[in-house]
Parts: sequence; C-alpha cells; structure tokens
Amino acid sequence: MYNYLIIGSGLYGAIFAHEAKKAGKSVLVVDKRPNIGGNIYTEKVEGINVHKYGAHIFHTNNKKVWDYVNQFAEFNRFTNSPVANYKGELYSLPFNMYTFNKMWGVVTPEEAATKIEDQRKEITGEPQNLEEQAISLVGRDIYEKLIKGYTEKQWGRDCKDLPSFIIKRLPVRLTFDNNYFNALYQGIPVGGYTKMVENMLDGIEVRLNIDYLKHKEELDAIAEKVIYTGPIDAYFNFCLGTLEYRSVRFENELLDIPNYQGNAAVNYTDRETPWTRIIEHKWFEFGKDENGNDLPKTVISREYSSEWKNGDEPYYPVNDEKNSLLYAEYKKLADSEQNVIFGGRLGEYKYYDMDAVIASSLKMAKRELN
Ligand code: UDP
Repeated sequence: MYNYLIIGSGLYGAIFAHEAKKAGKSVLVVDKRPNIGGNIYTEKVEGINVHKYGAHIFHTNNKKVWDYVNQFAEFNRFTNSPVANYKGELYSLPFNMYTFNKMWGVVTPEEAATKIEDQRKEITGEPQNLEEQAISLVGRDIYEKLIKGYTEKQWGRDCKDLPSFIIKRLPVRLTFDNNYFNALYQGIPVGGYTKMVENMLDGIEVRLNIDYLKHKEELDAIAEKVIYTGPIDAYFNFCLGTLEYRSVRFENELLDIPNYQGNAAVNYTDRETPWTRIIEHKWFEFGKDENGNDLPKTVISREYSSEWKNGDEPYYPVNDEKNSLLYAEYKKLADSEQNVIFGGRLGEYKYYDMDAVIASSLKMAKRELN
C-alpha cells in the first residue's frame, strides 16, 4: 500500500512526490505518456533540447520558489525577448520604446506616452474585455498589428469575447527593455527540463504509459490517497459537460543550417499566417552544446493553436465566464471526493505559470504532509 498515488509527472506531481518522499511517505507516480515531465518535457535532438510540448521559460519573483528549483537544476541567463512579425515588419516585444519607435517613429518616452494617451481615449470606463483592455493599455495601432491577430489565432475567439486578464500578463514600458517578463529571476535549466524533473523524482517509483482513468479501480486500491493532476472534467467522466481547452499542434523541423530566425521566439501576429509562433530551440541555450561548442544544425517548431477535442492534448484552459462557471461546479464535486486532491493547470483548470504551479504544489504539500 502506498501512502500517495500521484497521477501525472508534471511539475505539480513531481514536486509533491519529492516532498512526500522527503517526509518519509511511500509514493507511486503514474503517467499516461511514455515520458516524465508533463508539458515541460524536453528531448535532445542533434544536441538541442527541444521543448516538445511548447516553449517554457522559467521566470519568477518568488525567491522561495527560485531557491527551491535551483536544488534540481542550474539555470542559465536566458532572457525572453520575443520578436513580433507582422506581415514581414519586425517589432520588439513586450511593448516598449523599441516597439513604439518602430510603430510611430517616436523617439522620446514623452512622445510615446502622448501617442498612447491619444489612442486609448476611445475606451472610457473600465475595460470589459480583452480588446478594450488592450486598446486602453497600448492604443489601437498596436492592438491591430501586434495583438488582435495573434490573440484570435491563439484562442480561436474574438478579442471582444475574451477576458481582459489574459493581456494583463504583458508588460508595457516606456524604456528600451525587451525583457518579456517582469521577473527578478529567469532562465532555462541547463541540460533541459527533463533532467530537472528526473532530479525531482530521484528514488521515486514512476510507471509510464499508464492511463489512470482506465485503471482507476485497481490503482486506487493500492494507495491511501490520490493526487490527481489530469483534467478535472475527465476525472468525473465529463458528467457535467466538457470544459474547453486550447490545444497546440507542433510542426517540428530539423534544418541543416545554423540559424533560422536569430531568436528563440518569433510571434506571427497577423491573421493570415496560420501558425501563431515559431520557436527555434537552440537559442534557449545560446546555440551551444553542453561543452560550449556552436551547434551546426537547428530545430524549429511552428505552433498551430486549435480548439481541444477528445484525444488531443489539453494545453490552455479557456477561463471565460461559461467555463469558469462549469469549473466551479466540478470543483464542488472535487471537494466532496474523499482522499483525492486535484492540482495543477488541468486539475484546477487554471492558466498557471510554472512558478505558480510550484508554489501551489509546495503549499499543498505543507498542508498535507504536516
Ligand atoms: N499576446 C499578443 N501578442 C503577442 C504575444 C502575446 O497579443 O505577440 C497576447 C495574447 O492574447 C496571449 C497573451 O498576450 O494569449 C499572453 O501571452 P503569453 O506570451 O503570456 O502566452 P503563453 O506564453 O502562455 O502562451
């Protein structure tokens, strides 16, 4: 009999497993994929750590979380500075003086502020949706060229039908600073995320290729308590209806050239280009292998966003009103479920960043293991 059966070897599950083992508990982790790590899994191709389920850049303001993850990996100095490609015009992200200069030819922060001030006037009162929020942050020109197309491709919904908080993630700065995140600590684990998760799971029994929901009865019978990090609606057999997710399809290509786009991420912000962004993985580690040598080839991934349907991988919860209400109903079922704890992006239907997942798993572990 195990003390804990953990469903899913992503960050939430791996961290709880680590903490439980440290507290002297017996732990079994199962995952339906052939690999550990959930969506932060990286795989080496031609010396390049490829982010198989989408680019992950670790960033946080939480020193405790930062110190915590540093036990499992050394982080490099990568700073996320994506470039936006709008019909061949390139803009710096996030929105900063480089962006405003290219968009309007303004040179000083004061000129940029005046331009934004002028354009945001069309929104009066509290922004009611993502479109209004975006225009009130940066004005209509930037909204049209750098936000509208990208957002509608990513979410498959009109910007007027999306919640404003999604765009509040992006900073707006009147300085020449292309750092995408407002975070004190940032980087990519040297050697890849998979190695970091392996370190978290060191000495812990992990069974891969096991679909918990298909073997629920027999698995439940061998543990006192379950930590479930899969989709909450699937756990309850979709009895109240399906929660919506966005899925992503990756088209990966290995190219026999050293440099495809000169940056880790290029966002395609027009509506016509079918992909949302292209990731060139080697630039997360400065184009070098572990010995500091330049890598001769490159791997790129085009990302296509789509509505999730049964059988796809769920990536992003769609936290609009309809789905939030449905989640609240599932949450009630989850709360009344004996001996099961629901956690993580899918278990809590929440657009968590990695650092928030870690904080949440640690908080739960503290409560649970004391
Ligand atoms: N966004 C945008 N244009 C960009 C990048 C982001 O309009 O070039 C908006 C879009 O609505 C997106 C949100 O900002 O959903 C958050 O972007 P972020 O990069 O944080 O998303 P993630 O990396 O989690 O996919």
